[in-house]
Amino acid sequence: MSDGIIAATMPHATTTPVPPPPSIRTDWTRDEVAALIALPFPELLFRAQAVHREHFDPTEMQISTLLSIKTGGCPEDCAYCPQSALHEDGGVKASRLMAVETVMKEARAARDAGAARFCMGAAWRSPKEHDLETVCAMVEGVKSLGMETCVTLGMLDNAQAHRLRDAGLDYYNHNIDTSPEYYGEIISTRTYQDRLDTLSNVRDAGINVCCGGIVGMGEDENDRAGLIATLASMPRHPESVPINMLVRVEGTPLAAKDTDTVDPIEFVRIIAAARITMPTSRVRLAAGREDMNDEAQTLCFLAGANSIFYGEKLLTTPNPAASRDMRLLQRLGMHTSGA
Ligand code: SF4
Repeated sequence: MSDGIIAATMPHATTTPVPPPPSIRTDWTRDEVAALIALPFPELLFRAQAVHREHFDPTEMQISTLLSIKTGGCPEDCAYCPQSALHEDGGVKASRLMAVETVMKEARAARDAGAARFCMGAAWRSPKEHDLETVCAMVEGVKSLGMETCVTLGMLDNAQAHRLRDAGLDYYNHNIDTSPEYYGEIISTRTYQDRLDTLSNVRDAGINVCCGGIVGMGEDENDRAGLIATLASMPRHPESVPINMLVRVEGTPLAAKDTDTVDPIEFVRIIAAARITMPTSRVRLAAGREDMNDEAQTLCFLAGANSIFYGEKLLTTPNPAASRDMRLLQRLGMHTSGA
């Protein structure tokens, strides 16, 4: 199944949630996911590859580009994020929402560089009325370039989700970040249930869901299994599942916290578990790639990651230079999709 097919049929389709295909399980338990993650590595990778090949071309990589359309000054307190205004140093400088034409210029450049999807992120708790109007204009503009669109704007109510759907939005990103139990260690300004409610509003509106989490925030193995089990037991799996490795940004509470760096092999195990439990989802290697060598990234691709962000910057953290990505894909004999 390709994202292109999903995107072409979902946004303006019926708002009745579409049940998953009967062969796709949505009842994964944490214990089952933990047992997968703990498999001998060759066995785990073999199983992930088998599932991957059943649903995707293993040589194909989907490329998305991410643009921060409104940076900093966020009233939330996510402990990993430099955009929060609540951290001691006040986070990155707050900017105003970009003009539609500026976004269009960036989107054209991303399309010309081979991106199939253009993701736009704004550091809000939830979008205000007039800002949502502007974002809808951006979505319509980017769609007109022939690209898929994704936005991440914080919490959405049902009416806001429907307005974005009517503008033609293909994907909405809203991460659950970690397990329900560990979540309170990372964010206090909104609850896990708030996140699930937004995801449910997005799903009800007929927009594809992009939802994943972050590894390396001090959580334990049980929390990592809990993150994947929560995603894989949603009534319909997110179509995109970004798995991030924590990037320690100076000034954030997590940069100051004495947490272990994630073992790259352990990270590959999480990717493989996501692939096996969510066989038709795009598993995206998101933040943290800058700190991975080519070999670790290659293992992630073998474990089923088939989407990356392309470009030199994620919302506020560095990303491997685009040319390094292309060189790696070439060395591996892989190609990009949708370009
Ligand atoms: S992750 Fe998003 S919601 Fe949380 S502080 Fe950063 S911009 Fe705000």
